[in-house]
Amino acid sequence: MYRTHTCGELRITDVKKQVTLSGWVQRIRNLGGMTFVDLRDRYGITQLVVNDETSDELSSAVRHLGREFVIQAVGTVSERSSKNSKMPTGDVEIILEDIVILNSSVTPPFTIEDETDGGDELRMKYRYLDLRRNPVRRNLELRHKMGFQIRNYLNDLDFLEIETPVLIKSTPEGARDFVVPSRVHPGEFYALPQSPQVFKQLLMVGGYDRYFQIVKCFRDEDLRADRQPEFTQIDCEMAFVTQDDILNTFEGLTKHLFKSLRGIEMKDSFPRMTYTDAMEKYGSDKPDIRFGMEFKELTQLVQGKGFKVFDDAEYIGAINAEGCASYSRKDLDNLTDFVRRPQVGAQGMIYLRYNEDGSLKSSVDKFFDESQLKNWADAFDAKPGDLILVLAGARHKTLTALSELRLEMGKRLGLRDKNIFAPLWVVDFPLLEWDEETKRFYAMHHPFTSPKLEDTHMLQNEPGKVRADAYDLVINGVEIGGGSIRIHDEVLQQKMFKILGFTHEQAQEQFGFLMNAFKYGAPPHGGVAFGFDRLVSLFAGVDSIRDVIAFPKNNAARDVMIDSPSPIHKDQLEELNINLKPISKEN
Ligand code: ASP
Repeated sequence: MYRTHTCGELRITDVKKQVTLSGWVQRIRNLGGMTFVDLRDRYGITQLVVNDETSDELSSAVRHLGREFVIQAVGTVSERSSKNSKMPTGDVEIILEDIVILNSSVTPPFTIEDETDGGDELRMKYRYLDLRRNPVRRNLELRHKMGFQIRNYLNDLDFLEIETPVLIKSTPEGARDFVVPSRVHPGEFYALPQSPQVFKQLLMVGGYDRYFQIVKCFRDEDLRADRQPEFTQIDCEMAFVTQDDILNTFEGLTKHLFKSLRGIEMKDSFPRMTYTDAMEKYGSDKPDIRFGMEFKELTQLVQGKGFKVFDDAEYIGAINAEGCASYSRKDLDNLTDFVRRPQVGAQGMIYLRYNEDGSLKSSVDKFFDESQLKNWADAFDAKPGDLILVLAGARHKTLTALSELRLEMGKRLGLRDKNIFAPLWVVDFPLLEWDEETKRFYAMHHPFTSPKLEDTHMLQNEPGKVRADAYDLVINGVEIGGGSIRIHDEVLQQKMFKILGFTHEQAQEQFGFLMNAFKYGAPPHGGVAFGFDRLVSLFAGVDSIRDVIAFPKNNAARDVMIDSPSPIHKDQLEELNINLKPISKEN
């Protein structure tokens, strides 16, 4: 028997018990004839102590231990003279009687502490050591608990968890597929699922009217800060439902998670905001509504006064940063630099200071007199002390830039508290998105999304105006997930593929199985998928989903621990019938 108790278990009531613990050496300290060892496992830390005078042999053995050695310690629980109220086991210590070294350890490349000295890349390379740290462990525990709560909640509502295959056929969901060559079918490939989308729809055809799965999805997307090529979704589908049924069910699940995991009771219904409103008020389809600072469009108000930047602009919008009139020239220059960054993309920023004394000062005083400036302020019901920040330019670009500015101001003003959660549903997305480069429409969600029935008459002539029966759950400016009511009619699905530029043959080749299935009595259905990693990271209060994944890839989509991706052996390539082109150095 390696242990009678864990390192987080012993309390004052255990005093005098003979116990055996096993774990890792966190720290060794020698203080005035006593040697102390902090022994750690997943459950906590317990202090071991040996009196150097009573046992030479034991104290010499203890002194030869190193950090992260794995030991088994036998001893008697004793009350500590100086207690540590910060540790659950801090009232007691173990008077050592015997130790066995189960394994030694070389010095770890970074300290296994809450605040470690190891940089990101090093911790990734030695992730198994990083996993020993409390913050990582706590995140994985939270992830586990969330998975459990989700399963319980959905099980109680009669959802069935059904696995779907990982080796599938490519389905277009907006990203590139990862592909897997088939050895037995030379020249043919499987694709890894971007999501189980078509399978969950086929499960509806199969009669399993409430499906869910906590499932890995794979998307070969361009690298971005917080993206993982493989990630986990809470994937769901329901039959015989309307949009309301789905939103209510998954709002219920979200509230349940907040209650059970964070102790937060969310009584009110989540607000529902149309995509158009979200764009107009916040310049984003995932608005952070922990704070107001809504946009006002000033285009009508400010054009025609001879200021070229405004007169040439398609859209002029502004926010009111309340109480910021005291911003210095330097603060304002700094904000201008912020909006000019390529990621934000504005040309410049115009400000209007509503001074405490009631006077108005702007960066365009040459073109606008006080009474005109007062109109700007009135558009916001601004008060003395406020600061209005204006951006102008092409409509979509300016809305997006203003959204970044709003978020930045929210951050500077401390309005984005991690412990406050502001969920909402964004609904009525456009069905299609026009791409100037390829001169064609793309499905904004995916090709299986149903248009809103009242908009279907526009499909033929004004497809760009058709709204989708689609919705996203957004919390604190993060898109937690999205879904839609699906097309379940073969003819409408055919039409959709046509609008998306598929020939009849292409649609048949790629999705014949789905349209065929729709011929056999497909029920009306719809679903949703939440990003599990994102949800856990939001609950954990961490910025990166990497922090809640046991073995994540780095920003370059590499697993630096197992060194993947990596070349494969010539024989493997041959078996797979693959000839590699020479790889140019720049790659
Ligand atoms: N399959 C979709 C996605 O992964 C979600 C859904 O429509 O249910 O985004």
